[in-house]
Amino acid sequence: MSSARVIPIAVPAAPTFSPAAPDREAVDKRGRRIRDLRISVIDRCNFRCVYCMPKTVFGREYPFLPRADLLSFEEITRIARLFVDQGVEKIRITGGEPLLRKHIETLIEQLARLPVELTLTTNGSLLPQKAQALKDAGLHRITVSLDGFDDAVFRRMNDVDFPVADVLAGIDAAAAVGLAPVKINCVVKRGTNDDQILPLARHFRGSGHILRFIEYMDVGSSNGWKMDEVLPSSDVISRIHAEFPLEAIDPNYPGEVAERWRYVDGGGEIGVISSVTQAFCSSCTRTRLSTEGKLYTCLFADQGHDLRALLRQGVGDEQIAAAIAGIWRGREDRYSEIRTAATAAARKIEMSYIGG
Ligand code: SAM
Ligand code: SF4
Ligand code: SF4
Repeated sequence: MSSARVIPIAVPAAPTFSPAAPDREAVDKRGRRIRDLRISVIDRCNFRCVYCMPKTVFGREYPFLPRADLLSFEEITRIARLFVDQGVEKIRITGGEPLLRKHIETLIEQLARLPVELTLTTNGSLLPQKAQALKDAGLHRITVSLDGFDDAVFRRMNDVDFPVADVLAGIDAAAAVGLAPVKINCVVKRGTNDDQILPLARHFRGSGHILRFIEYMDVGSSNGWKMDEVLPSSDVISRIHAEFPLEAIDPNYPGEVAERWRYVDGGGEIGVISSVTQAFCSSCTRTRLSTEGKLYTCLFADQGHDLRALLRQGVGDEQIAAAIAGIWRGREDRYSEIRTAATAAARKIEMSYIGG
């Protein structure tokens, strides 16, 4: 989205230290370190999910980024390496629809050489063709978004008449090549697809995959978000618990975003992500790199820091590393903790651009 507000970065003087030493563990103003980097590799998508890229806004005339504005794979890999030097342990490839980016497996291959957990979030539509190449390139894990089990509801959610059977085939393809367990994310919009919670739970119980329900968020400015369309995760849990008793389980690591539950009868694990009703900003270690190389320190930011400009001006690794550390140290974000009707209505960057 070319209208994104951008903060130019003053090129820091060449540091006299090694960036691997003092900058490695940059701490922000709330004591949080950088651990996760989400990289959006494309702002386009073949779906028009009603809560993310509504057709009324993302129509034929929508000004998607021209190709020359996208970071190249080499640029992405160089930035990713600098983040890893500063403590990033997990990289997630996202978009838009990341599998639409040509030769995405080549990028995966480059990033897989870094000492990180490498994951990708997709709508699953291209997985039947791409799963093997992604696995071969070194992808560790995959998350597939799926907002309904009933075909008619799912087609309404993606708004391009895409059949649910094809996403289910994509999940099977990922599992077949060894990307199991697959995480399956469902965004719940009250009154639109909350009747899909139980059908999805019934389908994935016992499959070994991990189904997770995400509260509908006020990301961007185009989805017309309203608080009363958010179904609290506690309601999701009670609905499933009434049919299949659940018990809470410990997080995999401190600060894990998804709250974990398991079926008492051994049917496996599910999760809920309560981004609206139980904000987790105090442990937020995530940062996001947009398709055109802007760094966003919060999903709800309205301004990014222009790292691409540094790359294309020929600035050296040490200075870029120092710039990234400086941006992180200045970070105070805690949007979800202080959300109000006014902040929800304010102009923010779109999810399809910044990457979910
Ligand atoms: N196209 C890929 C996909 O759908 O998985 C990756 C990009 S998408 C922006 C990443 C994730 O963000 C998806 O799981 C999607 O459901 C989620 N998402 C998008 N808009 C959202 C919103 N308003 N609230 C909550 N989650 C949202
Ligand atoms: Fe596309 Fe993913 Fe957004 Fe749906 S959620 S419109 S699949 S980017
Ligand atoms: Fe992190 Fe911003 Fe989300 Fe809070 S609102 S958890 S700071 S991305």
